[in-house]
Amino acid sequence: MKFGTRIIHTGHDIDPTTGAVSIPIYQTSTFRQESVDHFGKYDYARSDNPTREALEETIAQLEGGTRGFAYASGMAAISSVLLLFSPGDHLVVCEDVYGGTFRVLTQLFSRLGITSTFVDATDLDAIAAAFRPETKGLFLESPSNPLLKITDLEGAARIARERGAITLVDNTFMTPYLQRPLEVGCDIVLHSGTKFLNGHSDVICGFAVVKDPELGKRIRFIQNAFGAILGPQDSWLVLRGLKTLRVRMEESQRSATRIASWLAGEKRVTRVLYPGLPSHPGHAIHARQSSGPGAVLSFALDSLEVTRRLLEGMKLAAFAVSLGGVESIISYPARMSHAAMPPEERAARGIGDTLVRLSVGLEEADDLIAEMDRLING
Ligand SMILES: *Cc1c(COP(=O)(O)O)cnc(C)c1O
Repeated sequence: MKFGTRIIHTGHDIDPTTGAVSIPIYQTSTFRQESVDHFGKYDYARSDNPTREALEETIAQLEGGTRGFAYASGMAAISSVLLLFSPGDHLVVCEDVYGGTFRVLTQLFSRLGITSTFVDATDLDAIAAAFRPETKGLFLESPSNPLLKITDLEGAARIARERGAITLVDNTFMTPYLQRPLEVGCDIVLHSGTKFLNGHSDVICGFAVVKDPELGKRIRFIQNAFGAILGPQDSWLVLRGLKTLRVRMEESQRSATRIASWLAGEKRVTRVLYPGLPSHPGHAIHARQSSGPGAVLSFALDSLEVTRRLLEGMKLAAFAVSLGGVESIISYPARMSHAAMPPEERAARGIGDTLVRLSVGLEEADDLIAEMDRLING
């Protein structure tokens, strides 16, 4: 069956006990046991909760994995999975990785003796050159945030595998509807489900998905031991949000494509970063490994004044942190997603002070373009 059908009929869309077409919210912390000798499938809700389980099995299936894990945030998912590594281990990480991931790696995991080298992951030779004998993991985002740089995921995962390391991909920008890294040899997919997966800007959540059952067991152990799980109410909301993932992505992507083309022709716009534009350096690789450019684009303006006017003046896009909602969100990477990165580090990576990121929602593209035109061109 195709993705659009599987997303509706997940195998967890009907409650087995009552036939309810919406899986119930099992708002319970514990489960009564029948016998001293034999405990039931559910014993304590940190370990397993049926609502969370329905969501975890859904995300696993959509990513083409064998196991999925739901967490209290994207950072909880990322940090929990990074606990697979031990003191002395080294990671190779794409250089414009999400700011929160950069922070947790450089300020927390570094203290635990897990070190990272940041590389331009558009260059497979640079990835290979950063590997050391103690490198155990390769951490990627494609497209990356906020520069929408593209990494050849299959090629990069091969480099890691040949050197005995695992590949982790933060697939937040694409979602499994557009890109499934496990299918091209990556080992762990991570998500901030806060963004497109839930899609309605009303839940903070995160996911990890794996194909290899052994790796699944290790992550399951960490999830239960560390305990950064997603609650049943939020699990239910994400199950509901997920049902419209395909139609939301299709519509937002269509508008994003139009907006990117319009921006590319504006003289106050000095660069447009969107993998859907043929001029994008990663266009061909992205087209090969995904089924669409997604709904996030970044662009730079010719002055700080115009940048400020656009960010503060937009009414149809919320000036806010985050992305992937039904409402468009316009953000300022230098002060928001990448505020945790030192200014000199940020500048070196091309995240300048006139760079704006736009996550296109479900408003009509004509209205978004008209408002941006008025603000950019004064
Ligand atoms: C938002 C985001 C995260 C962090 O997720 P939270 O749900 O905010 O903890 C991680 N990676 C990417 C690419 C993100 O956009």
